[in-house]
Amino acid sequence: MTDMIWFRGDLRIQDHPALEAACHGDTPPHAVFALTPETWLEHGWGPPKVAYLLKSLRALANELAELGITLHLVEAGSFERSASLVVELAGRLGIETVHAGLEYGVDERDRDALVADGLTQAGRRLQLHHTQTILPVEEIASGSGTPYRVFTPFRKAWEATWFAEGRSPTGRLEPVGPATTPTRIPDRVEGFDDWPGLGQWEAGTESGMQRLGDFIVRALDAYDSARDLPDRDGTSSLSPWLAIGSISPGMCLEALIQRLGPELARWPKGARSWQGELVWREFYRHVLGCFPELSKNRPMQGWTSAVEWRDAPGDLEAWRQGETGIEIVDAAMHQLSETGWMHNRCRMIVAMFLTKNLLIDWRHGERHFSTHLVDYDFASNNGGWQWAASTGTDAAPYFRIFNPDTQAERFDPDGAYRRRWLDPAAGLMRAPIVDLKSSRLRAIEVFKKAKDAAPTG
Ligand SMILES: Cc1cc2nc3c(=O)[nH]c(=O)nc-3n(C[C@H](O)[C@H](O)[C@H](O)COP(=O)(O)OP(=O)(O)OC[C@H]3O[C@@H](n4cnc5c(N)ncnc54)[C@H](O)[C@@H]3O)c2cc1C
Repeated sequence: MTDMIWFRGDLRIQDHPALEAACHGDTPPHAVFALTPETWLEHGWGPPKVAYLLKSLRALANELAELGITLHLVEAGSFERSASLVVELAGRLGIETVHAGLEYGVDERDRDALVADGLTQAGRRLQLHHTQTILPVEEIASGSGTPYRVFTPFRKAWEATWFAEGRSPTGRLEPVGPATTPTRIPDRVEGFDDWPGLGQWEAGTESGMQRLGDFIVRALDAYDSARDLPDRDGTSSLSPWLAIGSISPGMCLEALIQRLGPELARWPKGARSWQGELVWREFYRHVLGCFPELSKNRPMQGWTSAVEWRDAPGDLEAWRQGETGIEIVDAAMHQLSETGWMHNRCRMIVAMFLTKNLLIDWRHGERHFSTHLVDYDFASNNGGWQWAASTGTDAAPYFRIFNPDTQAERFDPDGAYRRRWLDPAAGLMRAPIVDLKSSRLRAIEVFKKAKDAAPTG
């Protein structure tokens, strides 16, 4: 009996239940990865995400070769085609079970339904495992059995489940056969330009674990106070690794447990707060899994569909280019275009500025981020944008609007972040494209109108 592991958003060989299951066969498993650039384009992926994926895939191919597992690279184009090619490959190799990590989006689920169907017809099967989260997040439900919509009770239930069932991550797999030659991974795929920022980011499990270890020693204790200061190296910057799955959230949690023990409630503030961010990541996957409309460009709060967004291409372009004349916004947009990454505090500031002061539909911002972020992750990005736009579950109330200048004074008091990312000449000359006070009032009015118009009950 031979099984196959299908890698998707979980490019690692450690803490990988699907890979472990595939290794239980009588012979070494086969591995497959499907290149689906047509679907990635449809999903709004950009050069940073794709370039980082290929780099991470190269690291995975080397590790699999050392384990004696052959990686088949399938050039499928689309999700739909990947489904038939994986079924075909399984047939050719005489595979009994294809194992893969569960993915939460609607297109991903449709693709998996196609594969499951095709395999079943051929007397084979698809088995899905939880590889992207610490716990099976879709199964976490409130007392009444309904999914959570609010983070704090979700976190409580998550922690109770973790204590009751806690799953420890597993270590690196032992070789299952003699080492093989690593599969060649292309440098680029059709439809995506090279990304000049790639050299700034290491990829693969080893570099991720190294960064995790450094972060714990360097910044974990002060995380609670430093995490909001964009000029400080106060957060882990592990999001690209977590988004591509070359390290797992379980490996992150385990590193903290090794240092602090399993009593989460007794952890110091910094560690507790960072663990909370890992749970936010789980929460957004829970929400995506339980409310499929999120994959269809829809807001979580129905009444916000009636918000009359401005059609203002010039303002949108100024925001994209970091030319709004609001220093913190422009600095953050430059950080994004140069590094593929933006500090969380600044993601919140620029998202709220776009959706409230400029009153531009959050879906434009969501798409700009998806094409420019190296750590692009649908669930977290959609969750972040819907939070800022007040359209999401447990979102910022529409009348609580950040003033970006006040945010800058508070979180970048000496201006170091702004100096670092702003072109000094342009920054000084540019007048703001919008008046912060009147645009704030305009947003509140427009949101209120939409809310008042919504049917009650
Ligand atoms: C508008 C907007 C868009 C966002 N888009 C993305 C995205 O595409 N991909 C992405 O990974 N994160 C996204 N985030 C969440 C967050 O900004 C990043 O995860 C974080 O900045 C990454 O930096 P870090 O690795 O240093 O985080 P740390 O502070 O070190 O946190 C550790 C990990 O926890 C997770 N995490 C932290 N904050 C959040 C959060 N608010 N929501 C969900 N998970 C979180 C991430 O995996 C992160 O790597 C977005 C937030 C906003 C407001």
